Amino acid sequence: MAGSCKNDLDGVGAVVASSRLLPLITDSVQSTLRPELLDVIEYRKSGLSVNWIIGCPLDCSYCVRHLFDNFEMRVPRALMREEEAVDRLLTHPHFEPGVTPIQLLNRATDPMLQAVKPHLFNMLRLLDERGLTNHVLVISRWHVNAEDCAVLNSFQNIKVTLLITHSGINDERVEPVDSNIAATSLRTAFEHADRYRTVLYWRPIVPGLNDSDEHISRALELSSYAHATVFTGLFYKDQIRDYYVSNGLPEPYETGARRKVFPEALERRILAAAKARPAGGSPLFRKTSCGVTYAHGVADYNGHFGIRELCDICPASQLALCAKAWTPPNTPEVAAMAEVLGGKLVTINERAVVVAGLDEQRRYRLQHHFGYQIHDINKPHLAHRHGRAETGWPAPQEVS
Ligand code: SF4
Repeated sequence: MAGSCKNDLDGVGAVVASSRLLPLITDSVQSTLRPELLDVIEYRKSGLSVNWIIGCPLDCSYCVRHLFDNFEMRVPRALMREEEAVDRLLTHPHFEPGVTPIQLLNRATDPMLQAVKPHLFNMLRLLDERGLTNHVLVISRWHVNAEDCAVLNSFQNIKVTLLITHSGINDERVEPVDSNIAATSLRTAFEHADRYRTVLYWRPIVPGLNDSDEHISRALELSSYAHATVFTGLFYKDQIRDYYVSNGLPEPYETGARRKVFPEALERRILAAAKARPAGGSPLFRKTSCGVTYAHGVADYNGHFGIRELCDICPASQLALCAKAWTPPNTPEVAAMAEVLGGKLVTINERAVVVAGLDEQRRYRLQHHFGYQIHDINKPHLAHRHGRAETGWPAPQEVS
């Protein structure tokens, strides 16, 4: 740990000590929860995700809590203390110091809720004290104040990115939380950013709900208060669609989808508006890791550079960084690692490594280790689709 930050970190400790800790979920309540919710660590595309607190009162209709059958759990509760969560993360077979990106509390709560925040800060402190230099992503749509920013600036080793979710949706049935909260938080976080970085997480963008010219120009205005802006669509999975139908909410799409829905015409409108805006806004990115890494001045950790059509909106300086870092991995090395993980290397092409027999989590393990896209032979990627659902795009062309 860097000794110079001790006083600041003592400050974090004081915040935690003076806060009331969230009660631990009892065994009897745990037995009623879906087993996935008890699985505190899950590998996702943006990194190993640690979710030791669950429950959220913010009630966004498209929340992933629908996927875990715990949408009704509105009061945050802890599954364990931070010390145990950090031990589980650092001993996780997929964790690599300095390499694996980490996401905190992004599955079933908002990390900046008053009751959750001290736990988030404590976790960040514990990670920082280990001298880890990994990316740590924190996503929130809630209040961020100057004191919070001081804590986030106090960490010496970890690369913290605060992603502020702002959609501009004003239909309260879809999103009960006022988007102005996120807008204010973004400004505050950006103004105070020193060691951490802020990203405007402009999502979900949904046709008919928040894709008017006014919505787009408001979001582009806000992009001035972020080091980078990531824009994306809605995860309209079947469980979320069921919730829309049973609550009489306006259905944005006719069918559910495994991937995020983001129609091509909408993307074109947004990019045209961004191009026409006055100087000063932060650059737009299609992928979270691209925005995060640009904000920190390092190459993308997901190897998106191989999917070159993703990069046509990226600033030249970042393209150069990614180009320099992006190298097809050594074949015997990938083959050996794929085998250790229980799968098989199929081929390495100029876009991706193609493997067989590895689930999503193991593919992400390889992807972050090599900084190169890892695709499953059975789930071919489609050119110019950027990993999005078919809704709103022309007939696909398979590429890997
Ligand atoms: S160059 Fe491509 S891969 Fe790198 S950050 Fe930009 S968009 Fe992402």
